[in-house]
Amino acid sequence: MSTALDQALNATNPLSDIANKVVKGERISRADAIRLYQSDDLVSIGAMAEFARMRKAGPGREKYVYYIHNMHLNPTNYCMETCRFCSYANPEDQKRAYTWTVDKVLEEAGKGAALGIREIHMVGGLNPACDLNYYEEVMSALRKSFPHIHIKAMTAVEIDYLANLEGISVEETLERLIKAGLQSMPGGGAEIFDEAVRERMAVKKTPAERWLHIHGAAHKLGLKTNATMLTGIGESIENKVDHVLLLREQQDKTGGFMCFIPLKCYYDGTNIADEVKEPTGYDILKDVAISRLLLDNFDHIKAYWIQLGESLAQVAFSFGADDMDGTILEEKITHAAGTKTPLQLAKESLEYQIASAGYIPVERDTVYNIVRVCEPVTETGMPQPLKPLELTPTV
Ligand code: SF4
Repeated sequence: MSTALDQALNATNPLSDIANKVVKGERISRADAIRLYQSDDLVSIGAMAEFARMRKAGPGREKYVYYIHNMHLNPTNYCMETCRFCSYANPEDQKRAYTWTVDKVLEEAGKGAALGIREIHMVGGLNPACDLNYYEEVMSALRKSFPHIHIKAMTAVEIDYLANLEGISVEETLERLIKAGLQSMPGGGAEIFDEAVRERMAVKKTPAERWLHIHGAAHKLGLKTNATMLTGIGESIENKVDHVLLLREQQDKTGGFMCFIPLKCYYDGTNIADEVKEPTGYDILKDVAISRLLLDNFDHIKAYWIQLGESLAQVAFSFGADDMDGTILEEKITHAAGTKTPLQLAKESLEYQIASAGYIPVERDTVYNIVRVCEPVTETGMPQPLKPLELTPTV
């Protein structure tokens, strides 16, 4: 056990009762999580989260940090909504608006396919020109042209929008998209579930209950999904804890979430910076660690390097994160809002980031089948492949 965890468990530590629950594998409560957020003892919180991460990983995998060779596709940035924190899409800003044809989606996907990607992560704005038929065509075409590439696409908000546009249930919408080629769903659009924050931020889309229902419906249809939380939009500690607890409750019911991804807002192109507190690195590490501790039924917590930057993502591995996301190739949404991270990282660079932080890089597929495990950093400073494994996709 680490020295830091020993100190957290010491009876003189005000957090020792929570540390004891963590070590015994007991579920921590709302009140526990609020106390963790209120504490300045980041070292103890990190030590508890690291312990929880290693136990969740299982014997022999304690130091694994996952990544995927993937690309992002954003077929349209035109959106009927006007969430105040969004710099990506705005119906008033027609000059920047674009909508790709099916052929253009294929052309862009082809660039990733040529580089050997395993996953397409596709999300976009709520655009009436991109209806259910459009996405059925896009997914069928992707499936036909690149049958070996997994399609992770459509946030719950997009599913909700398409179902309403079509006048059908979310279940039927999902079934049609699955038939066309959808294989899993990303976790976007959850933002913060609290209604008062959503109202201040003009978030009219898919409220908490509906967002959770759509993920539950997807799980029942056999899709794995992810979940997110957006911070830096005027939320309180309680709002964050309640958001994560709603995800834990949903996971207890339907069990299809793979990964939780804490996100932070960037403010370029928005008018909210003066009325909200921007999360610091300290806040982000707490979000990572406390979500690892609360979400005892989620296998993975992601340090999304495109938002955190590579350095903070590396630190987050010691605070409960075990996934760095992917090579991405091109990302438009966070870059529209001002992040300065590079637009792509080569696999070798991601592996180096993970290994140089003291962890073992593991290339995965979308649903966390292991593709390749790398040895710890070698004399050359680069990790080496340890065990190329045969891939057996489960979805
Ligand atoms: S956050 Fe999503 S729903 Fe809101 S304006 Fe941006 S693209 Fe549209």
